[in-house]
Amino acid sequence: MHQTNADIRRLDIEHFIHPYTDFATFKSEGSQIAARASGVHVIDENGQRYVDGIAGLWCVNLGHGRREIVDAIAEQAATMQYYNPFGHTTNIPATLLAAELAELLPGSLNHVFYTTGGSTANDLAIRMVHYYFNRRGMPRKKKIISRVDAYHGSTYVTARLTGIHATKYDFDEVAEGLVHHVSAANLYRRPAGMDEAAFCNHLVSEFEDRILQLGPDNVAAFIAEPIMGAGGVMVAPAGYHARMHAICRRYGMLYIADEVVTAFGRLGEWSASETLYGYTPDIMIVAKGLTSGYVPLGAAIFSSEIYDVISTPQRKGAVLSLGFTYTGHAVACAAGRATIAMMKRDDVNQHVRKIGPLFQGLLSSLRSFEVVGDVRGSHLMAGIELVKDRHQRLPFGAEVGAAHRVFLACRRRGLIVRPIGNVVVLSPPLVFSQEDCRETCRIMSEAVEEVTPALL
Ligand code: PLP
Repeated sequence: MHQTNADIRRLDIEHFIHPYTDFATFKSEGSQIAARASGVHVIDENGQRYVDGIAGLWCVNLGHGRREIVDAIAEQAATMQYYNPFGHTTNIPATLLAAELAELLPGSLNHVFYTTGGSTANDLAIRMVHYYFNRRGMPRKKKIISRVDAYHGSTYVTARLTGIHATKYDFDEVAEGLVHHVSAANLYRRPAGMDEAAFCNHLVSEFEDRILQLGPDNVAAFIAEPIMGAGGVMVAPAGYHARMHAICRRYGMLYIADEVVTAFGRLGEWSASETLYGYTPDIMIVAKGLTSGYVPLGAAIFSSEIYDVISTPQRKGAVLSLGFTYTGHAVACAAGRATIAMMKRDDVNQHVRKIGPLFQGLLSSLRSFEVVGDVRGSHLMAGIELVKDRHQRLPFGAEVGAAHRVFLACRRRGLIVRPIGNVVVLSPPLVFSQEDCRETCRIMSEAVEEVTPALL
């Protein structure tokens, strides 16, 4: 039976619980149906075409409908779609992708544990961190320091790591005392009178004070995104990450870099931590761009030092007892390999390094609008913060839905952006052309101009 768009909309309202959804409007309006996608465009049920300004959700890095990835998926599915990776069994794409990741990622990040996405990779990393310290005879070293406005996922533990206030309402939290949050590296909202360097000192001291307060023997790890994504695209002050890493070293803590958004080219590098910010994490978390969003895949990648500890048998006959059915899924890993091959072939990182400054430069003209408080980001990752009063940096109340209004105005003009609180986020496919950058910034500008009178 052929289903009409109206059928799909009704069935969707009745049966699909969508993530991050305002049910008040969802139940009356339903969903827009994304029907097809090609290149940097997504096409809705009515054939209306939109520039995908958010690459699906920070993930479709190489654009939609790329034949090479589709073929790699189909070929692997036909050859062998799945076999379990437990114990001493592997599949060829999983092993080869792990070796490729080891080659591309910095330092001794050579040991890959595959998961089904970013949340499961962060969750697994925390379990491994605890296991690692248990094995080293430090069973009290368990606490994790995260940051306000961080986003690390939606499982119980990763929602606890997440520091975005709005994700907490009426949900419970587990493992009381496990996670402690320090301030976000939010330059725009730094205390009045502090310059960037003083703000950095302030954040680093706060971190060290918190470790001392909790007791270094109790604190296992720090987790951070190189640039905060879902918290509103926050670029840390110069030197911040390297100094936080040095503090971790001083107190025998591990540094977990959550590069779910930033790895695989969004910042013009395979990963951002070492190349852009000068530190080598002990654990790196990747997902999203790893397969360009074609199929779900995540990974926690561990240093040799951690691997040496976790791979030492606990006792004769004991096994490392954790893992997922879909760890190292053959089709997902084939998609990952095809993604990496295309990125190398087309030198996508170099393209992003070239196009990124143009994109950021064009967006910075939005500063001329009274409601735009800040335009920030790096390469193909941008956030535009809307404010009620830009001299006092006063935020709009959530009920105003300022960023949501910009989202709607952009959508009417054929551009998809993502509203998060008062920030409009852009994270387009990395294959954006100069023309795509110009069109996106032109539409953003028209949209902000349209909504400004209603906001002031
Ligand atoms: N970490 C970061 C930095 C993210 O941005 C996300 C998702 O947006 C996650 C983790 C969670 O990844 P997933 O949604 O694949 O579970």
